[in-house]
Amino acid sequence: MAPLLASHLGIDAFTVSNLNTDQFGTFTREIPRTGSMIDAARAKALHAIEQTGADLAIASEGYFGPHPDIPLAPGNLEIVLLLDQRHGVEIIGQKLTTHVRWVHGIVNNIEDGLRLAYKGGFPDHAMVVRRAEHDPGEMVKGLADEQSFIECVRRLLARTPDHSVFIESDLRAHCNPTRMETICQATLNLIEVMGCFCPRCETPGFQCIEAVAGLPCRWCGLPTAWPAAHRYRCSRCCHESIKPVAEAFADPGHCAFCNP
Ligand SMILES: [Zn+2]
Ligand SMILES: [Zn+2]
Repeated sequence: MAPLLASHLGIDAFTVSNLNTDQFGTFTREIPRTGSMIDAARAKALHAIEQTGADLAIASEGYFGPHPDIPLAPGNLEIVLLLDQRHGVEIIGQKLTTHVRWVHGIVNNIEDGLRLAYKGGFPDHAMVVRRAEHDPGEMVKGLADEQSFIECVRRLLARTPDHSVFIESDLRAHCNPTRMETICQATLNLIEVMGCFCPRCETPGFQCIEAVAGLPCRWCGLPTAWPAAHRYRCSRCCHESIKPVAEAFADPGHCAFCNP
C-alpha cells in the first residue's frame, strides 16, 4: 500500500508498532468481529490516530467466505478505509475477488496435512494448525516452513483423542501474499475514488454508496432488481447525487414478470 499511497497521493505512510488489531476480530474466530467491515476498519484507523497523534490514518479489513454473486465460488472482499480527521473525510476503496489461496480441512496424518498446505500455496502462504475448527487451544499461527509445520501437526495429532487436526490458511495479510495483491487492488480503487470530487465542496472521495434498483425490463417495462442508478455521497458535506446507468433497459432475464 505504502508505495501506491506515496506515488499517487503524496502520503508518507508508516505502520504503528504495538498496535494489536486482533482486538477488532480474528480470522481464526477466537475473537469475533463486532459490527460491519467498515466499522472494524474505522475502529482500527481511529486507534492508530489515538496512538500516534496523526490526523490521517488508513486501515484495511478483509472478508473470506462464499462469493456473494457467484454460486459455489470462494470470495474475498477487501476494503481500505482512509480517515482524514482534519477535514472530516472518510473514503473507502474496495475489491471483491474469487482469486484466493484459502484452504481448510481436517487431516489424520502428516502427509495429508502437507498436501492440503501445499494446495494452499504453502510455504509462501502460511498455515494455522489447531486441534479442531472451533477449538483455539494450542493453536499455532503463521507456520511458514515445512519443519515447524510437520512438528506442530505431529504434536497435535498425538494430543487429540481421534488423532486428527484442523489445518487452515493463515489469512492475516502478512501471511497470505494473494490477499496482499487484493489489498493492493483495493488501494488502487481508493486512489480512483479519491480522483472523484464533490461537486459542491470539491472534497476528494465523492463515492458511490448505493445502487438504486429498478431498471425497466426491455420486454414489459416493469422495474427489475437491476440497478437503474447509483447514489453518490460526499462524506464531508453530505451532498448527494444520483447518476443513472448507461443502459436504458434491463435484460428480460432479470425480470420477475417475464422470467419468474
Ligand atoms: Zn419483463
Ligand atoms: Zn462535499
